[in-house]
Amino acid sequence: MAPVMNTRLPIRPELRGESPYGAPQLDVPVQLNVNENPYAPPSSVVTAIANRVTAAATHLNRYPDRDFTELRHHLAAYLRTESGVTLRPEQIWAANGSNEVMLHLFSAFGGPDRTAASFTPTYSMYPEYARDTHTQWVTAPRRSDFTIDDDAARTLVGDAKPSLIVLASPNNPTGTALPLSQVAALCEAAPDAVIVIDEAYGEFRSDGTPSALELLNEHPNLAVTRTMSKAFAAAGLRLGYLAASQELVDVLRIVRLPYHLSAVTQAAALAALDSAAVLQEQVAAIRAERDATVAWLKEQGYRVPDTDANFALFGPHTDRHAVWQGLLDRGVLIRETGPDSMLRVSIGTPQEMARFKEALLAVTKEP
Ligand SMILES: *Cc1c(COP(=O)(O)O)cnc(C)c1O
Repeated sequence: MAPVMNTRLPIRPELRGESPYGAPQLDVPVQLNVNENPYAPPSSVVTAIANRVTAAATHLNRYPDRDFTELRHHLAAYLRTESGVTLRPEQIWAANGSNEVMLHLFSAFGGPDRTAASFTPTYSMYPEYARDTHTQWVTAPRRSDFTIDDDAARTLVGDAKPSLIVLASPNNPTGTALPLSQVAALCEAAPDAVIVIDEAYGEFRSDGTPSALELLNEHPNLAVTRTMSKAFAAAGLRLGYLAASQELVDVLRIVRLPYHLSAVTQAAALAALDSAAVLQEQVAAIRAERDATVAWLKEQGYRVPDTDANFALFGPHTDRHAVWQGLLDRGVLIRETGPDSMLRVSIGTPQEMARFKEALLAVTKEP
């Protein structure tokens, strides 16, 4: 999309020259670029969603439940099964994708004369939420293995005095998970900030890697975001959610638009949550395929940072654009993101990963 340049409209100065965010949506056979779940929902799940949506349609003349009470109950129950953490429905928030949850957080805790902080490389949408809410965006670099240095974290908190600290775990685009001890230390080092742990890829974490949900009941300034876009194979649904103290959730209720979650979205999300067990079977398959892909890339001589997500960053490439383009020419779309010498591949089906490997060998072994 072209940047917004020469409009005579009274556009905010900081938006002039900006382009809309988003990876290219190209129609190619093997799409491994936006970390989607490669498995379409099974037909039993499709039927369950259709039935729920049909029932919701019979009273679409009415506004939806503004507080999505039933959905909050079901999300709390799901988190309890997934991570063993018991939360009250009042500790759950949801919106149209975790992107909107994040915008609510920035609207409530950011703003003029305030700062949000993170460590790079990380998710490229974060600075956009900051820009859109007039919040200063400050970052410090991660270490070369993409973990976060405790001293650097203390310095960032001390210098920038952020009201919001946003950290993805596992991190996008590196796959790096944060140890809970670091999250807890940050919550204590920055008691005047809200610490957001973005666990969009939480379900893909390796055995033995805990979720930051475990820290919630001790830290009222901690929020953990999740989404149905990745593990639930429901990127098209647009349902993201958050778990935090009730105090924090109650603040988010102030900045949401009224009726922001449609009755259709609530119905479809409830049906998908009822099918969580079926959908989570795919997560195990994706994790296994990830580990196999990482092992294969390392055998080819690539550096691959440890990943707890459904993607892997690999390199170095002397000309990463040429590799990306060569793969695309062979019908395989991956992502040019992260450090300049690296590329990110999402984990697809075994068939898709075979196509990726074959194409990568062809591109890199060419004379
Ligand atoms: C994919 C992704 C999300 C999910 O966004 P949705 O709006 O829920 O689709 C959130 N955070 C990160 C870091 C992601 O990569």
